[in-house]
Amino acid sequence: MTTTTVSISADLTHIRGAVHQPGDPGWDDARRAWNLAVDQHPELVVEPVDAGDVAATLRVARDAGLRVAVQGTGHGAAARGGDLAGALLLRTSAMRGVTVDPQRRVARAEAGSVWLDVAQAAAPHGLVALHGSAPDVGVVGYTLGGGLGWLGRRYGLACSHVTAIEIVLPDGRRVRTTATDEPRLFWALRGGGGSFGVVTAMEFSLFAVDRVTAGALMWPVEQAPAVLRRWRDLCPQLPTDITTIGRILRFPPLDEVPAPVRGRAMVLVEVASLLGEEETGTLLAPLRDLGPELDTVAAGDPSVLLRLHGDPETPVPGIGAGLVLAELPDDGIDALTRGLGADADTALLGIELRQLGGALATPPEGAGALGAIPGAFAAYAIGVPQGALGAVRVSGELDAVMRPLRAWSTARPYLNFAEAPVRPEEAFGPTAVGALWEIADAVDPGRLLRPNHDVRW
Ligand SMILES: Cc1cc2nc3c(=O)[nH]c(=O)nc-3n(C[C@H](O)[C@H](O)[C@H](O)COP(=O)(O)OP(=O)(O)OC[C@H]3O[C@@H](n4cnc5c(N)ncnc54)[C@H](O)[C@@H]3O)c2cc1C
Repeated sequence: MTTTTVSISADLTHIRGAVHQPGDPGWDDARRAWNLAVDQHPELVVEPVDAGDVAATLRVARDAGLRVAVQGTGHGAAARGGDLAGALLLRTSAMRGVTVDPQRRVARAEAGSVWLDVAQAAAPHGLVALHGSAPDVGVVGYTLGGGLGWLGRRYGLACSHVTAIEIVLPDGRRVRTTATDEPRLFWALRGGGGSFGVVTAMEFSLFAVDRVTAGALMWPVEQAPAVLRRWRDLCPQLPTDITTIGRILRFPPLDEVPAPVRGRAMVLVEVASLLGEEETGTLLAPLRDLGPELDTVAAGDPSVLLRLHGDPETPVPGIGAGLVLAELPDDGIDALTRGLGADADTALLGIELRQLGGALATPPEGAGALGAIPGAFAAYAIGVPQGALGAVRVSGELDAVMRPLRAWSTARPYLNFAEAPVRPEEAFGPTAVGALWEIADAVDPGRLLRPNHDVRW
C-alpha cells in the first residue's frame, strides 16, 4: 500500500460536494475503482456537484500541490495502475443528469452519467445512443477515448458525433467547446482522452432506431476453430448495418449465468443488426449451417443492445489486454484457440474480437483526434485474478495469448482497450500527437491532470 505523504493544508470548505480523506469512514468505498484489480490510494477524494464545484476542487488541488486524477466510474483505472500518490481523485459520480432534446436528436449528459442513464432517457423518444457493450461504463470516459459500440460500423465512433463539450480547464476557466468555439480543444477532446481538463458535460447526437435484430449464436468451445474461421470469412460480406463479435467465453459457474452455459466454455458470435430478422437470418445462414447449440438472434427493442454482451454491471476485478488486428489468418485463430480453447488450462475468462470496418475505417469530415480504428478486428482478452498469485498468472496467460496475435496487429492500439501505458505516438500517430501535446501544454502547462492515458509521455 502507498503511504500518504502529502498533508492537505488547503481550505476544503469551498467544496460543496463530498470530500473524503484517508481514515474517514467510507474512505475505502470512496477510493475504490470499478475495476477491483486496481487498488488506488489517492491523498483525497472529492465528488463535486457541478462545474463551479469542479473549479473549486481544482483550486484546492493546486493549493495543496496535488495532481488531479478524474474518474467517472473507474472502468478505465487499470492503465494508470493504482498509484495515485500525490493525487486528488476527482470523482464525477454526483453529476449524473441527462436531458434529451428529441427534436434535435441530441442528448446532454453530465460527467458522471453512465450509458444506462442515457439509454433510459433516449428510449421513450425512439432514440438510441452510440453506447458500448456495458450499461455502467461512463459516457464521458468512453467518448473521450473514442467509443466503439454496436452501431459503430454504421455510424462511426461515438466521439465523432459529439456536438459540444463543457469543460473546466486546469486554471479554473469554464469553457464550452464546439466545432466553432475553441475548435482545437474540441478536436483534441474527441478521442484524445482526459489530458485537457475536467469535462463537466457532453452533448451528442442520438439516432432513430425502432427495432434491431440481435442475439448470440453459441457452440461448445471444441468447435472454435471451425466457427471462428467461418465467421472470419463471413465478416467482409456483411453490410455495415450488421456488427458481429466473435468470442471465446469460459462462463463462470455462477448462479446468475444461464444454466445451459453455466461453467462451460463456448465459442460465440454475437450479432447486432439494424436489418429485419429475415434479412439478417439470410446473411447469417453460413453460421447457422454450423448448427449452433444455442441461438438467441431475434428481432427486439433496441434496448437489448445495452446488455447483449453480458458485461458485469457491478464492480469486478479484471486484468485485460487489447490490440487491433489488421487480419486474422488461420494461424491467428489457431493461436487463440490454443490459449483459450477446449484443451487450454487457463485462468482467462475469454477473448473477444470486435468486427471493425464500415464507418469505423476512415475518419469522417470534421473528425476529432481519433476518427477511425483502421483494421479488421479489435481484440480484447481478460482474466479475473484470484488468490495471491492470481494477477501474475492472468498477466502471463494474457501475454501468451496476445503475443502471437501481435504478428497481425495494426500499428495503432485503441486506447479504450489498452490497460497498460501506451506511447501516445503509437495511439495517435506522429502528426496528431504533436498537436495533442501542444494543446495539452497550452491548457495544462503545470501538468495538474493525471489522465489514464496521457498525451504527453
Ligand atoms: C466492462 C467494460 C466494457 C467496456 N466496453 C467498451 C466498449 O464497448 N467500447 C469502448 O470503446 N470501450 C469500452 N470499455 C472501455 C471504456 O470505454 C474505458 O475504460 C473508459 O475509459 C471508461 O470510462 P469511465 O468514465 O467509465 O472510466 P474512468 O476510469 O472513470 O475514466 C477513464 C478515464 O477517462 C478520463 N475521464 C473520465 N471522466 C472524465 C472527465 N469528466 N473529464 C476528464 N477526463 C475524464 C480520465 O482520464 C479517466 O482516467 C469497456 C470497459 C469495461 C471495463
